Amino acid sequence: MAATQTTPVKPGPDTGPGNELFAEKFRELLAMVRANRPTDDPEIIRKAWEFCLEHHKGQMRASGSPYALHPLEVASVLAEMKLDSTAIAAGLLHDAVEDTPVTTEDITAMFGEQVAHIVEGVTKIDKIQFANREDRQAENVRKMLLAMVSDVRVVMIKLADRLHNMRTLQHLSPERQQAISRETLDIYAPLAHRLGMGKVRGELEDLAFRYVDPFTFQQVHDAVEARRAEGEQFLAGVEALLKEKLAENNIKARVEWRIKRLYSINQKLLKSKISVDQVYDLLALRVITASVQDCYAVFGLIHSIWRPVPGRIKDFIAMPRPNLYQSLHTTVMGEGGHQFEVQIRTEEMHRIAEEGIAAHWKYKDPGSPISPRDEQRLAWIRQLVEWQREMTDPNEFLSTLKIDLYPEEVYTFTPKGKVVVLPKDATPLDFAYSIHTEVGNTCVGAKVNGRIVPLRSRLRNGDIVEVVTQNGHTPSRDWLTFVKSSRARNKIKHWLNEHQRERAIDIGRKLLEREARKYKVSLAKFEETDYERVAADYSVATHSDLMAAIGFGKYSARQVLNRLSPGLTQPAAAEPEQTAGEMSDAVRRVSATSGTDSLQVEGHNELLVYRARCCNPIRGEEIIGYVTRGKGVAVHARNCPNVQNLLYESDRRVSVEWARPVDEAIARRQTYPVRLTIFCDDRTGMLKELTAVISDENANIRTVDSRTGQDEAIVEFVVDAEDVRHLARLVQGLRRVPGVRDVQRSPKL
Ligand code: MN
Repeated sequence: MAATQTTPVKPGPDTGPGNELFAEKFRELLAMVRANRPTDDPEIIRKAWEFCLEHHKGQMRASGSPYALHPLEVASVLAEMKLDSTAIAAGLLHDAVEDTPVTTEDITAMFGEQVAHIVEGVTKIDKIQFANREDRQAENVRKMLLAMVSDVRVVMIKLADRLHNMRTLQHLSPERQQAISRETLDIYAPLAHRLGMGKVRGELEDLAFRYVDPFTFQQVHDAVEARRAEGEQFLAGVEALLKEKLAENNIKARVEWRIKRLYSINQKLLKSKISVDQVYDLLALRVITASVQDCYAVFGLIHSIWRPVPGRIKDFIAMPRPNLYQSLHTTVMGEGGHQFEVQIRTEEMHRIAEEGIAAHWKYKDPGSPISPRDEQRLAWIRQLVEWQREMTDPNEFLSTLKIDLYPEEVYTFTPKGKVVVLPKDATPLDFAYSIHTEVGNTCVGAKVNGRIVPLRSRLRNGDIVEVVTQNGHTPSRDWLTFVKSSRARNKIKHWLNEHQRERAIDIGRKLLEREARKYKVSLAKFEETDYERVAADYSVATHSDLMAAIGFGKYSARQVLNRLSPGLTQPAAAEPEQTAGEMSDAVRRVSATSGTDSLQVEGHNELLVYRARCCNPIRGEEIIGYVTRGKGVAVHARNCPNVQNLLYESDRRVSVEWARPVDEAIARRQTYPVRLTIFCDDRTGMLKELTAVISDENANIRTVDSRTGQDEAIVEFVVDAEDVRHLARLVQGLRRVPGVRDVQRSPKL
């Protein structure tokens, strides 16, 4: 979308202010501004024009004309639209930042914030490469364009720019002609329509039609031309008759007529699948009155002269279109069976229909329902129109009109230019999930506009987002705290649930196996049908669901085993049937079935439970369990710093207790390795005395390491302690050794 006809800078003809063609055109521009906006100061326009001439000097367009002609033409279109001098100056400068070494700072210094801001907005849009045509994309691109600009004049300049580029499109290659015309039809013409700029829209459409479908264009063109003379003659007759009747009835009104535009004729043909001969509203008459009452008077008058075609009467005065278009429409049957459409409106309505108002809104095609939110926006626009009437200075109106049309959405791009619409404050992660679930699940980072950003950063309108993924990476529960789109949220939750379920099935299976071993039951003897029968007993669907229910603590493994093979186990009388439970209950009940009141935290042989390596708790210490992904339950000391960090995922915490030794005689004495660091005097015999204390306490020494510093020694032991009391005795004993300054337990081994 960059300036479509820029060629590399090369020497061209003299484009200085002395050039006669330019001088004449510029005088016309100033005259138009003076006529349309007498109070505007033309000085800024003059300054902008000089700046434009200077900085585009030597640049040429594909047509071979000096580049500066393009900004001048764009400014003329803007002046025709009756825009203010700020907008016209910005129009003259609109390609300066894009195509010359001029910076936004330069523009600010010379022309002030407003002009610079507008030029910057136009440049920003120019830089975006829109993806190829995709039906659903077009609407998003249009919305994004509106969302990206904060000043309505940016869009006006963009439309004027496109209009002039379309008018001079013949100089480009056929491929460029196609692409630019397509984009014009998809993006710019509808945008002009939405802004109520009927004239610009019509011209853009007809210009684009010629290039997008030259064959059909020629067909429609020829058909219309063949009937033009006849049509014009007919309409001239209609006009004369109508004028006569208006005078008779003392109604002041002017009458216009035209042959409809080719693109809109073709749209009609496509829609109703008829031939060009059958298009009844090829011919259009317009009556412009002084008042609304006169509109309805003319309406009645016309129907008294010509017979209306049923179903073609529309009152857009009582029910304005969403873009504020107002008119009475009717189609009537003229002499010789000629049908023609009549539009009746006031001067004010006519102005709005042709030029649009300086306002934006979300437009839906007539007929489609308008959401309450759209309704709200429209109310806002109507309010603006009211304000506009009250304001004496139109400049004031334009500069106070800031667009924030889609405050709840943000428009971003893939590197290939596809528009991705996300909720406001969305993050790169939301973006990733909108591309594909797997892209979201494996997302490890993102580049926004080429720079690496954190996953939780907020995206802004126009950001180009590139997702970085890594195979095997998986979602984190933490993501739920910052994603904004419901899609991302649901996908993450789904993944977490799925994987928690897998884990639960695994735990359930192991618990059942352990229970079976305990009762010396071979699970191998059960058939799949046995599991299905028990599953049905518990009203769960499948074998897996049954295992998951055990894993989640809904039912105990013993209950299930007993159902599988009644009488094999002694049902615990006190054990109630569990109906519901959370993960946190799950693991505790696991232990209940294994004959103790708490989770088995015996460590090495336990598949499900392991001591967290960060704190290595030992028997007797206050502990807390944490369900890890795919590894089982990590047991931390309650005072472990990591526990503080784990608190926010409270649903993954489980209560755990040290298991009571079931049978002390049989059970091997369980010990836990502990690392002790001793700071002491560096003296002979120290190490020997320390080792003696440890062996006196019947503790095994796994490793010993000592080093000496300036005036002290540091000795590190890894010893096997039975529990906290045993450890406390060891530490006390070590502290009593003369020359020992401190004994510390290191959390890590
Ligand atoms: Mn341009």
